[in-house]
Amino acid sequence: MLRTNTCGELRAEHTGSRVTLCGWVQKIRELGGMTFIDLRDRYGITQLVFNMDIDAELCNRARELGREFVLSIEGEVKTRSNKNPEMETGDVEILVEKLVVLNASKVPPFTIENETDGGEEIRMKYRYLDLRREVQKNNLILRHKVLQETRKFLSDEGFLEIETPFLINSTPEGARDFIVPSRTNEHQFYALPQSPQTFKQLLMVGGFDKYFQIVRCFRDEDLRADRQPEFTQIDCEMTFVQQEDVLNIFGNLVKHLFKQIKNIDIPEFEIISHADALSNYGTDKPDMRFDMKLIELTKLVSGKGFNIFDDAEKVAGIVVKGCASYSRKQTDELIEFVTRPQIGAKGLIFAKWEEDGNFKSSVDKFFNSDDLAQWANAMGAEKGDLMLIVAGDTTVVQRALSELRLEMGNRLELRKPDDFKPLFVVDFPLFRWSEEEKRWDPLHHPFTSPKEEDLDKLDDDPGAINANAYDLVINGIEIAGGSIRIHKRDIQEKIFKAIGLSEEEAKEKFGFLMDAFEYGAPPHGGIAFGFDRIVALFGGTESIREYIAFPKNNAGRDVMIDAPGKVSQDQLDELGLSLKK
Ligand code: ASP
Repeated sequence: MLRTNTCGELRAEHTGSRVTLCGWVQKIRELGGMTFIDLRDRYGITQLVFNMDIDAELCNRARELGREFVLSIEGEVKTRSNKNPEMETGDVEILVEKLVVLNASKVPPFTIENETDGGEEIRMKYRYLDLRREVQKNNLILRHKVLQETRKFLSDEGFLEIETPFLINSTPEGARDFIVPSRTNEHQFYALPQSPQTFKQLLMVGGFDKYFQIVRCFRDEDLRADRQPEFTQIDCEMTFVQQEDVLNIFGNLVKHLFKQIKNIDIPEFEIISHADALSNYGTDKPDMRFDMKLIELTKLVSGKGFNIFDDAEKVAGIVVKGCASYSRKQTDELIEFVTRPQIGAKGLIFAKWEEDGNFKSSVDKFFNSDDLAQWANAMGAEKGDLMLIVAGDTTVVQRALSELRLEMGNRLELRKPDDFKPLFVVDFPLFRWSEEEKRWDPLHHPFTSPKEEDLDKLDDDPGAINANAYDLVINGIEIAGGSIRIHKRDIQEKIFKAIGLSEEEAKEKFGFLMDAFEYGAPPHGGIAFGFDRIVALFGGTESIREYIAFPKNNAGRDVMIDAPGKVSQDQLDELGLSLKK
């Protein structure tokens, strides 16, 4: 090795020993006849000292170094007279006797510090420099730990880690595919997996009753802070299980990770139905750290001549504790919040039960104090509370109140960063109606099994069928999703038919799977976790990019290598492809 120790290792007890360290120059300071250099590597920072009185030539050489030069130094560990309790190595410094510059560095385009002056774009372009920052380094260390703990837990539970191919055909998970042309099969294309869904099911048919894989998935969809075109899943599947077995074992995985990574014992998982999630929280991924449930008011408030309520499909509201004192400015902000185009409510009605016992509302013309007292009663409001009410189409009301609930949760600091409330949402509908395509779409994917008791609704009332599907939600973030699968050919055929695939299309795309179902396919089910999201949850930020070594930007570009890029005409010719001019 070029070094005897790392830059994070030396303590007072090493005083007197001779060491060789390698690392990057973090900082150079001159103080009278002394020069100090902070030398950094992955493990920490150690202070080097050069003394003019002892070796002027060496000291002068040190003064000429620049930030991010790579050094190898040899010297003696000394106890510092001026100890730095903020640094792990703050008790010692190295009196340098030999200095080798292993490589010089240009001045980096941003400061390699946690509070850097570099904006996101420049940091992405020079990602290798960004990764030298302690925060980024710690994020990748965290990711490593979560990877190892996941493997450990699942392997100890008897799961086998098995790889599945990347060059496949389409696996429908609701996004567009990334397509790869085949040279040896002209005019034919692979698709990169949106998930290993069909392969993991075939592994079950192959007799591997507990499978997992920490695997890259590829989805060509619009990007957001918590989405990347390639992302990582902990993909799992089990044979001879029911929903509760899957929830049990993967609930335990989550508990294990919280314990090992954060030393937190998380509470038991709540389980609520998809329908209850929507009616109580307005969303299928509610943040359970606080209550503030949606209260249905449609019947109570209609028939008083207030058109907005009378004409609405749904009227519902939330109670915000202690906020009756909200000013006009504050309520205006909330109105603006729910009427933003992303949310799309037509307006927001509020009623205050003031501390002095009076009621005040934005609809005083239509509703008197008795009416408002009735609302308060129905909503469980108390003196001092603010009632916020939205009317309109059910989906708009739910979306608006769900977002408003989170906003008020933030304002009242009810969404504590160190509080984790896990939740399984179950009993999802099997299909949703797609207005654009005028057909039923699977809510998860087409391999999800319908509830046995709903099977007879397949022909007449597909919208009423519930699925054996579940999502894991923590603090409002969807962390995992899965289902018990179909394992019989006839049911799979019916589902394909229901989502508008002709018999031929179904055979062409998924014949292999349906054939497999005819050779003793066992009942099976599984789940997949958004791995990047779990790491981000542990790390405490929303953006998964911070936890991926080389992420893409919002336009799906890798700005460091400048991908995607062009290919040569020769390459295109070989593939039998031409570009439209
Ligand atoms: N393949 C599914 C997904 O990627 C997860 C599952 O059903 O296991 O969302």
